[in-house]
Amino acid sequence: MYKEKNIKVKSQHVNKFQKGYPLIFKEALSDPRLLQEEGQIINLVDGRNQFIAKGYYGRQNKGYGWVLTRDEREDIDQAFFKKKITKALNHRSHLFQDEETTAFRVFNGEGDGIGGLTIDFFDGYYLINWYSHGIYQFKQEVVEVLQQTETYKAIYEKKRFDVKGQYIEDDDFVSGERGQFPLMVKENGVNFAVYLNEGAMVGVFLDQREVRKRIRDAYSDGKNVLNMFSYTGAFSVFAAAGGASKTTSVDVANRSLAKTIEQFSINGMDHEAQDIIVEDVFKYFKYAVKKNLTFDLVILDPPSFAKSKKHTFSASKDYKDLLKDTIAITEKNGVIVASTNCSTFDMKKFKGFIDAAFKESGVNYKLLEEYSLPEDFKTIKEFKEGNYLKVVFIKKY
Ligand code: SAH
Repeated sequence: MYKEKNIKVKSQHVNKFQKGYPLIFKEALSDPRLLQEEGQIINLVDGRNQFIAKGYYGRQNKGYGWVLTRDEREDIDQAFFKKKITKALNHRSHLFQDEETTAFRVFNGEGDGIGGLTIDFFDGYYLINWYSHGIYQFKQEVVEVLQQTETYKAIYEKKRFDVKGQYIEDDDFVSGERGQFPLMVKENGVNFAVYLNEGAMVGVFLDQREVRKRIRDAYSDGKNVLNMFSYTGAFSVFAAAGGASKTTSVDVANRSLAKTIEQFSINGMDHEAQDIIVEDVFKYFKYAVKKNLTFDLVILDPPSFAKSKKHTFSASKDYKDLLKDTIAITEKNGVIVASTNCSTFDMKKFKGFIDAAFKESGVNYKLLEEYSLPEDFKTIKEFKEGNYLKVVFIKKY
């Protein structure tokens, strides 16, 4: 058991924590300077020292730590971690049984009861993301639970301690049998090559599983598809699997070419029948307009923020313009899949950008369907910001 420390919450914020808000944010604390030791267990108390909630201190971009329980008698110990993680694993039992999908998230931070910690599963290889020094203090507790699972082969980790959530370069191997990379995993029958020990990004963003499936199953057959900000080309591969007449993948990063060739190849697809372009998307838009290129389906999945030589892209400021460029090269009756993982605006605001872009382009549209995080990326209603993913399928008239 760990030593607990009382920390006073300012009166105007007490109610928020009583209602279940999990993020301990600096402004809520009367004296945040009392917090010094990352991983310290803290009891949030009101002005009269009445218990509100128990959590841990861990600095990350979003705050000063996370609430773990609102039961004063519950200890934060090995048994606590075992209970939370076991519950999360059981919650994904249908995914563990699904032979067509061997990569998914098994623990999603505050959604599963422990903020600052996520765990992904890649066919027996667990990948832990630690978002603060504070949560990293509980490494032994977390690792032990995973080692006891039936499916366990090995554990890797990503340290994202930097207050901006930046990845810290390291050997990410923790325990078990070192993997042979690329590791081949499956998602709805499609193969992905995954690298768990080559920096922050492993090759696939698991939160788009439903969107990829939908693109393959309902939007790609016979279509000329453009995938912007394509990274390893995951959307392109799904579109090709769904019968796309051709896919074009555009990403500014040099690594994206080899990675995309690899993703097509491991799925038995001829990458030479596809266009894989290493270029700034903003340059590509200009090129496409000049050459009168148009597409039936355009997928837009930019980072929330990116700086390149010529451009700074910020989703909250520039998404509307990105859509206007896209509308200009989308066929009549074509579809745009607009995606963002930016947590600083919600779906309503995102739809506002979409509406403005079409209005300013003088084009009519219809919203066909929308997606947010899939069920393995569990979220809670008390923390709406946690449900960051917004994807909208839009038909252009
Ligand atoms: N859609 C991808 C994930 C995108 S990650 C998937 O489904 O896997 C964001 C990508 O955008 C990165 O690969 C990054 O290299 C790329 N990127 C950032 N700015 C860019 C720009 N201006 N032009 C093209 N690609 C860009």
